[in-house]
Amino acid sequence: MLQITQAPQSPVLVQQRFSILGVASPFYAGNNLLLTIDGQFRATGPDINLDGTWQIDFLFQQAGNRRLKIEVGTESTELTIPVVATAPQAKQLQFTQVPTRLPVLQAATIGGTAANFPDGSALILRADQQFDLAKPFVNAGKWQTTIGFNQPGKRVLEIISSDGRDRAQTTIDVVAAQPRPPRVSFTNPPKQVKVETTLTLAGDATNYNNGDQLILRADQTLELARPRVQDGKWQAQTVLRQTGQRLIEIIGSEQDKAQTIIEVIGAQAGTFQAQPRTTWTSTPTPSDLPALQPKGITLHHTFLTNPPATNASIADEAARMRVIYNGHVNGNGWADIGYHFIVMPSGRVYSARNETKRGAHDVVNDGLGVAFDGVYTSATINQAMYNSAIALCTTLCKRYGITNTVTPIPTPTADFGTRNLPRMMGHRDRVATECPGTEGGRTVRLPDIRQAVNGNLAT
Ligand SMILES: [Zn+2]
Repeated sequence: MLQITQAPQSPVLVQQRFSILGVASPFYAGNNLLLTIDGQFRATGPDINLDGTWQIDFLFQQAGNRRLKIEVGTESTELTIPVVATAPQAKQLQFTQVPTRLPVLQAATIGGTAANFPDGSALILRADQQFDLAKPFVNAGKWQTTIGFNQPGKRVLEIISSDGRDRAQTTIDVVAAQPRPPRVSFTNPPKQVKVETTLTLAGDATNYNNGDQLILRADQTLELARPRVQDGKWQAQTVLRQTGQRLIEIIGSEQDKAQTIIEVIGAQAGTFQAQPRTTWTSTPTPSDLPALQPKGITLHHTFLTNPPATNASIADEAARMRVIYNGHVNGNGWADIGYHFIVMPSGRVYSARNETKRGAHDVVNDGLGVAFDGVYTSATINQAMYNSAIALCTTLCKRYGITNTVTPIPTPTADFGTRNLPRMMGHRDRVATECPGTEGGRTVRLPDIRQAVNGNLAT
């Protein structure tokens, strides 16, 4: 019976003193133990005590697994002592790369150190002590992986060695995804443009979807275009018909607008300038009305008595415009004033319905409506109205490519089927009405006006 009762449980260092204790049969008390190291070095060990116990003190000079055989008489025992040159360093896992806040459904790189782990060691990244998210491998003392979550909340993350002995812990705050705010802008808008000149405006529409519709607007009331977003950009062509400092806006929503000021200069010679709609109202023409591509001009009278005097102020005429608007919207139930322009007895012309929208004055209308304010069933328009009508209609024909206002062409009508009509006509030519007066428009001098306009277009 020769037993070891105490021996090192972990490797010993070179030059480290340590002891092996044991017990032998008291029969051998006083005898020497005999040692054999690595099967070749034999040495005489210490004496066995009277009670059979013994103790051997060791110190190895070389590293390696050293085999010891201990003998006395016919009894022997063996053990192996690992001897290492330096102390093995403690393994340690740590998090070093963790976002504190992570939006859901967004990938994040998580990493850390794995001190004293051999390359290729498998680790486990675990969430909330139950879900294994990834199994990163150690490379050069580091580990790294990519994770993502689809539910918000605070998460406990653990990095764990494959044997479960080493671990480190951290938390990550998974937050609801922030919707990215949409944003429109202008790209290099011009500071100055010429009136009545085609202008291309463009810009970015960040975080909008393809096909989303924006509104390009002037002076907070006049809709110029409805560009659609394509690949985060928008572009629109428009023509500014009023001179001065114009506030141009691109609008994605009430919350998302961009503005620029464009100075519109230099009315072209012969271009007629109507008073802008903003003279009399801040309410724009409703944008959901059908679009109009004018092919002609229809003349009307408003058939409202007591128009402003020939020497009326703009304020008086603006008030009159609001009367007309009230009658058409609240009386007739139309969306706006039915016509596009109103010619006042002073000769001033006021923009009414937006030119890009169909009028209410003709159910098969494909033209612009121009109305003389007043009742011209028997009375005739004055010279100022006549001159303004010619100037206005000349400008409108040039604007919309109408080159001939006298030659009749087949034209659909509301009440008379298809008729041969010139591009400038009276309301009565297409609808069963007296408007704009009797005798085919003699009172509003329709034949004279279209001849004069046609003459202007020829020059
Ligand atoms: Zn009419």
